[in-house]
Amino acid sequence: MPTVKIYHKNPYIKEFHANITKIDQKPGKDVHIKLNQTAFYPEGGGQPCDLGFIGDFRVKRVFEEDGDVFHVIEGIPKQFENLPCVIDWKRRFDFMQQHLGQHILSASLEKLFEAETVGFHLTEDNLTIDIDKQLDSSDLDRIEYFANQIIYGNLYVKTHCPSNQSELASFPLRKDVAGYSNPRIVEIDQFDYSPCGGTHPKRTGEVGIIKILNCSTHREGLRIEFVCGNRALKDYAEKTSVLSSLKSELSCSEKDLPTRCAGMKNDLKEITSKSKRTSERLLDYQIDEMYGNSRIHNGHRLVSHVFETDNLKDASVLTSKVLKRDPSAILILACPGIDFTTVLLASSTSENPLDLNLVLKDLLDKYNGRGGGKAHHAQGIIGGEVPPDQLLHVLQSKITLELEKSKNK
Ligand SMILES: [Zn+2]
Repeated sequence: MPTVKIYHKNPYIKEFHANITKIDQKPGKDVHIKLNQTAFYPEGGGQPCDLGFIGDFRVKRVFEEDGDVFHVIEGIPKQFENLPCVIDWKRRFDFMQQHLGQHILSASLEKLFEAETVGFHLTEDNLTIDIDKQLDSSDLDRIEYFANQIIYGNLYVKTHCPSNQSELASFPLRKDVAGYSNPRIVEIDQFDYSPCGGTHPKRTGEVGIIKILNCSTHREGLRIEFVCGNRALKDYAEKTSVLSSLKSELSCSEKDLPTRCAGMKNDLKEITSKSKRTSERLLDYQIDEMYGNSRIHNGHRLVSHVFETDNLKDASVLTSKVLKRDPSAILILACPGIDFTTVLLASSTSENPLDLNLVLKDLLDKYNGRGGGKAHHAQGIIGGEVPPDQLLHVLQSKITLELEKSKNK
């Protein structure tokens, strides 16, 4: 005997008693049990399955196979007859609200814009439909308003199980029944007729509200994200909380928030631009100072400096500025960090008299550092215990010596 589907007869049954009629258990696997009757809705038609308890065992999954409903639990109950069963009603009622909300929204889209629903996705935290038309935001406002009037009309939701083709053909169905065997027709009181095997509240008023949250292009049409009933209430509560924090943080009213944020964005843009200009000027002053302290050796200006920065990109900017001002310069930078000092050597590619990578290698060997580079640009790190001034001094001496050697060649 196939399982009696209580959820179709009365979707409001939360607790019931049943007898086990079949048990499947593969070694090491979960137990699949069939009951003589069940209020557990199996996954299908876009609606996730119910969860809950059968006896003392938690129901992990419910699925339908060849007209029978199987319940996946973790063990075999001691009692096989008159077993107490309870479904997770909060979860079920949430799915019923979202599901009927989807019927109402899809029917509204079809009636107002002849937009067909081609996809439906319902999970514990997401609800979307895909439609085959592009609509603008004012169309969606209109749809949302219209759909909510259907809710407030508190229309009856009825189900029909037509016994033959001519009876089936008498229903003005929104979508065709191809793929449905013995289709069950869900009617929203002369407003909409749709084949569906899911669970729905008995009146549209129980959906509470439909709120469209988001819209994005999907293939030729749109994907519409929305919430219904308690989900919408939760969403409203979360948004109210966010708005309250923003109002308090920015000391303004809710309606002034967009203007205040736009103003802050502009202020930030201006401050960032000013800060960039100030940094550039500061860098120019630093270069002036570095030039003042530099010395010429064999036609090359040795520029060395302890450069305090928390952003090594500044060191790159400084390097290009120095080499642009004097292409004969050899730049030696030590940038102290928290645990180590970054050492940077640079010269222009055209007027480079030395292999700076070799010069750096000597230093790294001496102080157990890491790094490398090319003849005109090399960079490494050395433990913070060595004073940066000492590193500069060692490098200056080495470069002076190497310049002397190259002169004498
Ligand atoms: Zn349905």
